[in-house]
Amino acid sequence: MRNFESSRFGLYKDLLKSSKYFKLVCGAGNEDQNEVEYLSYIYTLAGCTGFDVSANPKIVKAAKSGINQAIKKAKDLKINIPFVPFVTVSVGMPGDHHVRKAFITNDCVSCNLCIPSCPTDAIPKNLTIIKDLCIGCGNCEAVCPPAANAIKYSHNAKELLSILPECINAGAESIELHAGVPDDDATIEEWKVVSKSVPNGMISMCLDRKHLSNEMLVDRIKIAHDIADDRLIIQADGIPMSGGTDDFNTTLQAVSIADFINKELKEKEKRLRNLPILISGGTNSFTGQLARQCDVKFNGITIGTHARKVISLYEMSPSVMNNEVLLEAVSKAKTLIKMNLYS
Ligand code: SF4
Ligand code: SF4
Repeated sequence: MRNFESSRFGLYKDLLKSSKYFKLVCGAGNEDQNEVEYLSYIYTLAGCTGFDVSANPKIVKAAKSGINQAIKKAKDLKINIPFVPFVTVSVGMPGDHHVRKAFITNDCVSCNLCIPSCPTDAIPKNLTIIKDLCIGCGNCEAVCPPAANAIKYSHNAKELLSILPECINAGAESIELHAGVPDDDATIEEWKVVSKSVPNGMISMCLDRKHLSNEMLVDRIKIAHDIADDRLIIQADGIPMSGGTDDFNTTLQAVSIADFINKELKEKEKRLRNLPILISGGTNSFTGQLARQCDVKFNGITIGTHARKVISLYEMSPSVMNNEVLLEAVSKAKTLIKMNLYS
């Protein structure tokens, strides 16, 4: 493995090439610093190679803090962490589910159905959604009675030209654009900004087949590659943020979109043969296993909802966790990584 000090880019490439990249998604809309620090701490100790966080310098710093505390703690626990995990920041096109925030309108009839549906406890009893906790998943909208239809969304707008350099200064090394929207021209303009922001780093475009037709997906990847060349990673999102259940069926679409990209692009176009594919969107313990059983090639796995859920029981500040609780949480995270990449 390369020395990370001399070539972080090369290390990233090596991880993708050997299909050993596991990215924990803290949530593009998750601006809870304590949670991001906790997740980065546990998953770094578990061997996670990358974190995906909101494009907010404070959140990048929270992730870096979790990582640095984990590296220090690893010495006490005699855990080997071969390199510092990568931090990616996520930005999104207006309308993309990953960067929207729900709010409740005056049409609400106070039935409270949305409260237990929220995976991040962002809806308190007073029914005013806590913005920092909302990840835009849409669960509340799905249970809101059609007669009320009281859940709407605002776009968590980020001015990329100013926010991305701040995130990079805070320690981010890679950027992901969530581009599950049909507007090609606007997406490509934002993609160019992303590309210029990290000229020597990997950049990722997250695409799904829920919001794009197969044809649009293929065209979008080709254009993204024209701009990013060998820095491009495609995050193939089965059904965005759908990883709530841990079974084969839930992860089927995530594996399916990777299969589609392999067959329609990588096998047909020589220049795209080595395009790295990360599987996401409905990923869980079974994703890697299903992909291997179906002979679907991938370069890494990225998990959000399910990865957060498996260690949510223990959630607390790294500074107050005792070793017994810590090792239990790390073991659960490690099992998830192993099941996906190594079993
Ligand atoms: S259910 Fe999802 S969209 Fe609704 S408030 Fe919670 S996180 Fe936000
Ligand atoms: S489910 Fe809809 S109507 Fe019921 S409390 Fe939530 S926002 Fe209001």
